[in-house]
Amino acid sequence: MKRTEQTLLEQMQISDAEIQHRMKLLNLSKEDLSLLTSHKLMIEDNVDVIVDEFYEKQIEIDEISLLIGDADTLRRLRTAQRKYVLDLFSGHYDSEYVNNRLRIGMVHKRIGVEPKLYLSAVRTLKDVIIKTLRRTISKADVLALTLVALDKLLYFDITLIFDTYIDCLVGEIETAKKRTEVYAKGLEEKVAERTQQLEELTKLDPLTNIYNQRAMQDFLRRELAVAKRRQVKLALVYFDIDKFKAINDTYGHIKGDEVLKNVGQAMLNNVRDTDIPCRYGGDEFCIILPECDVKQARVICEKIIKEFSERYKDFSFSMGVAETGLDEYLDGDHLIKKADDKMYLAKEENGFQIRS
Ligand code: GH3
Ligand code: MG
Repeated sequence: MKRTEQTLLEQMQISDAEIQHRMKLLNLSKEDLSLLTSHKLMIEDNVDVIVDEFYEKQIEIDEISLLIGDADTLRRLRTAQRKYVLDLFSGHYDSEYVNNRLRIGMVHKRIGVEPKLYLSAVRTLKDVIIKTLRRTISKADVLALTLVALDKLLYFDITLIFDTYIDCLVGEIETAKKRTEVYAKGLEEKVAERTQQLEELTKLDPLTNIYNQRAMQDFLRRELAVAKRRQVKLALVYFDIDKFKAINDTYGHIKGDEVLKNVGQAMLNNVRDTDIPCRYGGDEFCIILPECDVKQARVICEKIIKEFSERYKDFSFSMGVAETGLDEYLDGDHLIKKADDKMYLAKEENGFQIRS
């Protein structure tokens, strides 16, 4: 249930039994309360004097004067304080009385009245009320008992007010904790996202933006296991740029890099989403083609050759294609070796060649 749907009494679970218990703890008896109530009329006559004197003393304290702030607030506070003085002698010390004290505690906490200022104000009020009681109660024994009763009732009120202070503080801590938890969760998500991005980066070849050899080995191992389980073929293309050293020597390294980049791009442009193009190292490349045989792999090779040769008329590469499954499944190293061997066969001839 929301806080705004509950009284403070409910929020703090202060029942009638708890009120009685608190009174008992302070030895605040029915006789004490009746004695206070017996001065009700006298207090009603003197309440304005009490409130006047109380605020005269209060506003002398800089911190309090600063907290009150302006004349309107002071007027409102005087009205509230007047009601409190009357309440002390009203004869009604029930759940409504308690709820009002709790509310006052909450307001004080909200406007930033520290406990030391609150306690000093209670003491001032007590002094002012005692002065009036001394002036108006002639019987010494009645006066003495009244002062004791007032002391106990003020203690009772202070315990309630401090409970709301503590409750507010706990509420603030809980809110801060929730905020921290939300923040931490956000951070965790960000870290996980960044970690994933970094992991992805460590798998990529920075020049061509396709997977590097280490990632390729991982993918190949996994894809071979999947192919075996699903009983499907897997093809691997291995290719190498012809006379790449000469390209570097003739046109320079920058041009060589550009050629490598465009090989990567031609691969990316012509493979299926499930295919995995990789740079094996230097001017050597591989493509893992899951659920694909040699024939289908050749089609993809031709598409890559077509795109590359349209851009670079004078350069070529040699391609070897190997497949594995269904009768037996080679491991990654053997499959690479098989495709590499085919590539060397292709290299024996000039120009774009695919051997399988
Ligand atoms: P073949 O036709 O037999 O494949 O001969 P090749 O010249 O292509 O092969 P070789 O292995 O002799 O040379 C490969 C060259 O690739 C040598 C190396 O300097 C160059 N190379 C390797 N990595 C890079 C790179 O990242 N950028 C550039 N520009 N060149 C690179
Ligand atoms: Mg080469």
